[in-house]
Amino acid sequence: DWVDLRDVVTAAVKRTERLARRHAIKVDIAPDTPLLCLDAVLMEQVIFNLLDNACKYAPPGSPVKVWAKRTADHIAIEVADQGPGIPPEDREKVFDMFYRVRAADTQEAGTGLGLAICRGIVEAHGGTIKAEPGLHGAGTCIIIHLPPPPDLDLDGKGNP
Ligand code: ATP
Ligand code: MG
Repeated sequence: DWVDLRDVVTAAVKRTERLARRHAIKVDIAPDTPLLCLDAVLMEQVIFNLLDNACKYAPPGSPVKVWAKRTADHIAIEVADQGPGIPPEDREKVFDMFYRVRAADTQEAGTGLGLAICRGIVEAHGGTIKAEPGLHGAGTCIIIHLPPPPDLDLDGKGNP
């Protein structure tokens, strides 16, 4: 279906907020973000898994941000927090099944499947997902790149 990312992100944010964790989730979807052909239920699960991680691993009250924009050759969706971050040597492994960074993480509810599921869903849509440090090198930023819709007017001038 052709889906508005705004609806997908809003649904995921509501679901995260229902877990009653004390985080201010900021949403910023660029107005020129095009409709995308994707599975809304699965993509909501992806955004929810990322927000769930941000709220689980970052300190209560710290800001969590999700934003989306179109770039020259894809649609970028990012979820950023100001938590402990993911060490460089673990940034690829966190997408493996059952992998958890800190021994203490196993005391948190969860299975270590969240990010593996995210990668599977994003790749099924032809996209990529990676973990990077957040703003100013602190915290975590998960970056999703989705292919643009086939008829996307990339430069806004009618040129495909
Ligand atoms: P589940 O998602 O299945 O409930 P989980 O959160 O442990 O369990 P993933 O979401 O796959 O599993 O994350 C894997 C590991 O990556 C986590 O256990 C944690 O160590 C690390 N991690 C993921 N997101 C963050 C984050 N935002 N900040 C710090 N560490 C993170
Ligand atoms: Mg998780």
